[in-house]
Amino acid sequence: PLTLGGMTPQPNPEVGTAVKAADRAHVFHSWSAQELIDPLAVAGAQGSYFWDYDGRRYLDFASGLVYTNIGYQHPAVVAAIQEQAARMTTFAPAFAVEARSEAARLIAERTPGDLDRIFFTNGGADAVEHALRMARLHTGRPKVLSAYRSYHGGTQQAVNVTGDPRRWASDTGTAGVVHFWAPFLYRSRFYAETEEQECARALEHLETTIAFEGPSTIAAIILETIPGTAGIMPPPAGYLAGVRELCDRHGILLVLDEVMAGFGRTGTWFAAGLYDVVPDLLTFAKGVNSGYVPLGGVAISGAVAETFARRPYPGGLTYSGHPLACAAAVATINVMEEEGIVGNAAALGASVVGPGLRALAERHPCVGEVRGVGMFWALELVRDRETREPLVPYNATGEANAPMAAFAAAAKEAGIWPFVNMNRTHVVPPCNVSEAELKEGLAALDAALTVADGHV
Ligand code: PMP
Repeated sequence: PLTLGGMTPQPNPEVGTAVKAADRAHVFHSWSAQELIDPLAVAGAQGSYFWDYDGRRYLDFASGLVYTNIGYQHPAVVAAIQEQAARMTTFAPAFAVEARSEAARLIAERTPGDLDRIFFTNGGADAVEHALRMARLHTGRPKVLSAYRSYHGGTQQAVNVTGDPRRWASDTGTAGVVHFWAPFLYRSRFYAETEEQECARALEHLETTIAFEGPSTIAAIILETIPGTAGIMPPPAGYLAGVRELCDRHGILLVLDEVMAGFGRTGTWFAAGLYDVVPDLLTFAKGVNSGYVPLGGVAISGAVAETFARRPYPGGLTYSGHPLACAAAVATINVMEEEGIVGNAAALGASVVGPGLRALAERHPCVGEVRGVGMFWALELVRDRETREPLVPYNATGEANAPMAAFAAAAKEAGIWPFVNMNRTHVVPPCNVSEAELKEGLAALDAALTVADGHV
């Protein structure tokens, strides 16, 4: 029998069937046509793996929704949650609570620059909501600029700044949001052929956008430090520094959204550190406690915090800094330090994932580009390497999306759970994944790419 971290998945198809039946009857799923989905019933999870009620095991190459940065069921974090539950499960946000203050201290110590004050939320979208509210109140300006190739969350303001098609159905059109094109050389909007050109032209485009919108109307520019869901596009050298300079010149705040890129994902605590850029506000969630209990937040600069020093900040949440979630964050950050998990993501990303994916790209004609860093990688799948025509059209569904559906099915058949979005698969395993697990996953990916090659 298969043993994982002391736990043995026991096949129990009857329970699986009952779980699935209740789910189909009563659970309303995110972003889904309720009758067109077929969710897998999950029986358990441990480390980098999870398994279903038939005893089938998957290596989680998606880290859930790119959040289980220390894998599933880390014993130190589970114990910390249990201890906090026994001591004080919850307490209202207006009080000073040990787990909350300790989590804030540990986070502030790791965020760049003077982002030393932490406003806690329940997740990423509400972190974005509050960061943008703070920026508007601090500057007294109405507008926010954000990138078309972006995802910032599913609540109203967060979905308004989001660029991807999930915005369309919910867009109010009056949200004070203007979208622009951030750099992405492989699909350049600027006819660029080098990273230098892409960087310079994207900055020129942003500068023009600011000039035509009116600098005095713009509160903030929000960017994912490395766009995640939209395709994992590390920005060219100099881009974020250039955006910082434009912001400074015009009194605009820079908000970096590190909900996905933060807490070790890129092989450093925060991706802003890779580019030596300090934002005015930084949003986080996911990896802060590996998603064991919902938690997100905004790290706030001294200058923005000063705005609310003698005037109340008009916003809050009942569960802001929930002790269970904060205890999980404290334990997660300590585990990441003790086990060198951030360094593991950097080292194995550079020595195993990057070279492994590039080797796959050489053998599989469906791979158009490999990009990423740390445990944050994307494969762009194409019909034609020359024209770069995506393997499936933008925002394809149903039959039009069949090649990606076939790829995903083949990946699962081969034993990995893939992250799939449009014509891309993202390789985003837990940051404490082992070299052996990565090699197992890359072999499974190899088999699935062979299926995708059939659609080239
Ligand atoms: N920002 C980014 C960059 C994200 O990747 C996500 C979630 N994928 C969010 C915000 C929203 O986070 P949540 O789903 O926790 O609200």
